[in-house]
Amino acid sequence: MTERIVVVGAAVLSDGCLLAARRSAPAELAGRWELPGGKVEVGETSEGALVRELREELGVESEVLARVPGEWALRSPYVLQVWTVRLLADSPAPKPLQDHDELRWLTSDELWDVEWLDQDVAAVMEVARGVWGS
Ligand code: C5P
Repeated sequence: MTERIVVVGAAVLSDGCLLAARRSAPAELAGRWELPGGKVEVGETSEGALVRELREELGVESEVLARVPGEWALRSPYVLQVWTVRLLADSPAPKPLQDHDELRWLTSDELWDVEWLDQDVAAVMEVARGVWGS
């Protein structure tokens, strides 16, 4: 059996908005929006991986708050787990440094204005339920 690899996604929340990131690569994902994040490396905790990925991808300093209930299958052997995250007070504003070419802060009304990756839709719904009760 193939080993299961956890991909951590960040529901970065600020002023009641959720951060969405538009993928610039690979070609099959480019143009679609996701919760930023990536693979947990060997010896790393999920929280540690999130903080590292957000620093690498967006140039921010962050704090992991809580796990969003659920786990979503990605292309095997990957599974997606999502955590709520906040930016530290002295963090730079997020910038698309790698993997992304645009960022948006979405209000609950704007949540479905972007075309999320298919595999992120259920996770975003669960985030919305937890954050806005919708
Ligand atoms: O960003 P990274 O390449 O490490 O992500 C690993 C895999 O997880 C990619 O194949 C990407 O498509 C997937 N992923 C996802 N949803 C996210 C973050 C990553 O499907 N929110």
